Amino acid sequence: MKDGRIVEVGYIAGAARTTVEAEGLALMPGIIDNHTHYDAQLTWDPWAAPSPTLGVTTAIIGNCGFTIAPCRPRDRELVMRNLTQVEGMSLEVLRAGVRWDFESVPQYLDMLERLGSALNIAAFAGHSSIRTYVMGDAATERVGSPQEIESMRKLVLEAMQAGAIGFSTSTSPAHNGEGGKPMPSRLADETELRALVGCLRESGRGVFMLTKGGHTRIDFLEELARDSRRPVVVAALLHNSTNPDSVFNDLDAIAEAQANGHYVVGAVSCCPLSMDFTLRSPYVFEGLQSWQPALPLKGKAFRNKLAEKSFRDAVRAELARPTHFRLFNSEWDKVQVIESKRKELEQQSVAELARGQDPLDFMLDLALAEDLDTVFSALLLNSDEEAVGRMLKHPASLVSLSDAGAHLTFFNDAGFGLHLLGHWVRERGVLTLADAVWRLTGQPAALFGIRERGALKPGYHADLLLFDPATVNRGPKRRVFDLPGGHPRLSTGAVGVHGVWVNGVRIVGKEGPLEGSKLPGRLLREFVN
Ligand SMILES: [Zn+2]
Repeated sequence: MKDGRIVEVGYIAGAARTTVEAEGLALMPGIIDNHTHYDAQLTWDPWAAPSPTLGVTTAIIGNCGFTIAPCRPRDRELVMRNLTQVEGMSLEVLRAGVRWDFESVPQYLDMLERLGSALNIAAFAGHSSIRTYVMGDAATERVGSPQEIESMRKLVLEAMQAGAIGFSTSTSPAHNGEGGKPMPSRLADETELRALVGCLRESGRGVFMLTKGGHTRIDFLEELARDSRRPVVVAALLHNSTNPDSVFNDLDAIAEAQANGHYVVGAVSCCPLSMDFTLRSPYVFEGLQSWQPALPLKGKAFRNKLAEKSFRDAVRAELARPTHFRLFNSEWDKVQVIESKRKELEQQSVAELARGQDPLDFMLDLALAEDLDTVFSALLLNSDEEAVGRMLKHPASLVSLSDAGAHLTFFNDAGFGLHLLGHWVRERGVLTLADAVWRLTGQPAALFGIRERGALKPGYHADLLLFDPATVNRGPKRRVFDLPGGHPRLSTGAVGVHGVWVNGVRIVGKEGPLEGSKLPGRLLREFVN
């Protein structure tokens, strides 16, 4: 390679300035992580830890519509409080960390470019931020008026012109902001969504991504793909053991849309979704209708609510009802006590510990007795390996959903690519190595129109991952304290990674990040139409 690009591939006769010993190793294009939430973190951590060490060379930020731009100075606190709730980012970390040298999306992108980054970054224009910018507090309360929708359209078009990779939104009931209010995009009706996705058609490029609530129909999304003539990414398709067919129904409907000539893909995860949580911030339950009365409460009022019999009965009744999508489905054998003042309870499931008592009562009573400090871990979704294997092979699926940069204390799937290569290729044999590599690189590059990346070809940018196929994997999760103010997050190390190059610059060696390495990543603003 030369000047950040690949010059030749294969047997090369000439001399090289640098040679890398790679006997027995494999070289692939760097991983493109298409579902991250590094929007805030990048303003204080241009390294975007831990993604580069996990083989990622390009990250798409601003998924689900949760961006930090555009943002008026008076809305900064609200945007941070919403992120705290919806993406599990600590408010103190955001207050200490976020640089607010921008108001508009173009200014935000310019700032990212000035700050630099280890990875190549592409950014969505996010619906919830655009809605708040236009509608203020009403963004979480009602549908947009024709004038407001027109103002939002202008902002989406402005973002697209400045180099956004597309437009993102969420209709998912799991997405709640400050005080349990729905995130702004959830208040949009179909007229608003049609108008805003229509901006992509006008721009002649860009991808529409949404995290879908159960009420959003695939045929409506197919209509949006048809009318906008742009690709549509449907997230978050996770397997639910208590409603095992639902995700396959969605994937089959998406495959049908493809057969009709419409570019729709289903974003699936190759990782089991487990979450560590305390009852102080029980993301696992916050999407439940019956939990809503507890959401805005704090302190004693919140504790009293958790103790209330009628509240608990309502939660139990809701959990017993079958539904299309729900994070937690009463699988109490998959909820463990991780940290408790009563050490003897640790590493046991709530189902075992409850011993005939109702498990919800047991969990809430235990948490209340320990001042809500008890840490639980719930294996929520995607734990049926046979089913997840079928999803990964499904022709309509896109491997996605790392959520890197979000849910920092709940889980960390930034190493999803290494998990795909180690677990699903080597250990389970569900995908061939070549297919897995394509799913992590060539497929997202083509879908998102990322130019000259995602393949090892002469002329392409030298984004590379050198790894050992015999050992590659992500390491176990561990708690680290590297956020602004020394706050904790879950991290994960890499196994079998020997080198990562971004635009020809090696940023990771066999022993991990290379000290003093430059920030070779670029802000990507131009995409293939
Ligand atoms: Zn997301």
